[in-house]
Amino acid sequence: METASEHRVWRNWAGTATAAPARWRRPGSEAEIAAAVKDAAASGLTVRALGSGHSFTAVAATSGVALDLSGWTGITAADTRTGLVTVRSGTRLRALNAELSGLGLAMANLGDIDVQTLAGALSTGTHGTGARLGGLATQVEGLELVLADGSTATCSASSRPDLFAAARIGLGALGVVTSVTLRCVPAFTLLADERPLPVDEVLEQFDALAEGNDHFEFYWFPYGRNALVKRNNRIARGAGATAVPPPLPAWRRFWEFEVMENAGFGTLCRLGRARPRLIPALNRFSSSALSARTYTETSHRVFVTPRRVRFTESEYAVPRKSLGHVLAELRRAVPRLPHPVMFPVEVRVAAADDIWLSTAHGRESAYVAIHQYAGLPYQDYFDRFESIVAEVAGRPHWGKMHSLDAARLSALYSRFGDFLRVRAEADPEGRFGNAYLTRVLGSSAFPLASGRP
Ligand SMILES: Cc1cc2nc3c(=O)[nH]c(=O)nc-3n(C[C@H](O)[C@H](O)[C@H](O)COP(=O)(O)OP(=O)(O)OC[C@H]3O[C@@H](n4cnc5c(N)ncnc54)[C@H](O)[C@@H]3O)c2cc1C
Repeated sequence: METASEHRVWRNWAGTATAAPARWRRPGSEAEIAAAVKDAAASGLTVRALGSGHSFTAVAATSGVALDLSGWTGITAADTRTGLVTVRSGTRLRALNAELSGLGLAMANLGDIDVQTLAGALSTGTHGTGARLGGLATQVEGLELVLADGSTATCSASSRPDLFAAARIGLGALGVVTSVTLRCVPAFTLLADERPLPVDEVLEQFDALAEGNDHFEFYWFPYGRNALVKRNNRIARGAGATAVPPPLPAWRRFWEFEVMENAGFGTLCRLGRARPRLIPALNRFSSSALSARTYTETSHRVFVTPRRVRFTESEYAVPRKSLGHVLAELRRAVPRLPHPVMFPVEVRVAAADDIWLSTAHGRESAYVAIHQYAGLPYQDYFDRFESIVAEVAGRPHWGKMHSLDAARLSALYSRFGDFLRVRAEADPEGRFGNAYLTRVLGSSAFPLASGRP
């Protein structure tokens, strides 16, 4: 097992969390993962598996042993008939999408980016959009974990179902996920339609848009009247080549995704950071500059876009029927904030699911994500947003900024107590604990949960 420099600092993508692990380990096999957990126990240290550091919270931070799983990647088994594919947990989604594509398979739904590791994305409840679809964890059929005593456990809906219900979105609290079996679907093409529409019109038609499209979402610049509406629909197999628009040519993908949405938007953001008073006008400019595009493309190339402009983010899942209220309140609140907001609000939808700590547990959900450009003040905005979503029992994304603690969260999740019970069985000492888990899950039962990162 490789041991990286002991004094390396860990930092997340957004720069909102750092940690100084006592040890770094880079296991290359399941046996080495188990050995790293046992060694940590022998030294009285906690352990955290690291993903790609794309959580905005300190969910992955550790002062104990940091397990870098970048040497534990790839597909180990695939059945193209059933779509069941077993993947090592450190595999990045980008590599997974490419490997699946080579097998004629795809994940049924994805989020906005593909740099996360599979286990990292699952552990915080990463989701995309689609009223008939759940987040990534709903695509999981089975998991294999190394538990706190170094033993291996497998779980699925039929084998250790409680561990399965907890560990699909386990916050890294139950063990190190080593392998994930996904139920994939045959590779598919999406017809992408993106166009600006008045935000009032979008809200009036929200249910019809959510129900009438496979994947529906919109972005809204808080000072503008327009929303950018994205509708992505699966093309029936065998649809005539003339019936659908072609993929975007490479130069246009580069121009629109890299130049306009990253380099151009990044320039506007830097200008706004230097001259905050200009932000509302820049925001309206961005809103008015939105343009339409329609194209077809392999699913993951539609779901995923590059995100090179750094930002901070908070996202809450709210009952779908509450979305209108939340956005109306947000619209009232944003112009009154002491610091202007540079980034758009993103709205997505998901079906209800049965995963214990899923933000969509037991209810059809709308996701409202708010962002601020890196380096601009965000606390007032995020606090105001939290007070709005609190009125409608909003549940925070586990990997995005929020201030809720175990007392508040336990009231939002009917199976919270069950999750704690399974955690206490799988990790009685809190070997996989950190300060974030102490805050969101509570500490009483776990001797190692000291409140340190
Ligand atoms: C630019 C950007 C865009 C994003 N877009 C979306 C989006 O569209 N939808 C969405 O829902 N979220 C989105 N996110 C959030 C992101 O998907 C999640 O925060 C995700 O958890 C990050 O994955 P990661 O690999 O970076 O994991 P990390 O952030 O490194 O870790 C997350 C958690 O997973 C745990 N973990 C990692 N590996 C294992 C393992 N093998 N076993 C047990 N636990 C493990 C870690 O300990 C930690 O608790 C976005 C974030 C960014 C920065």
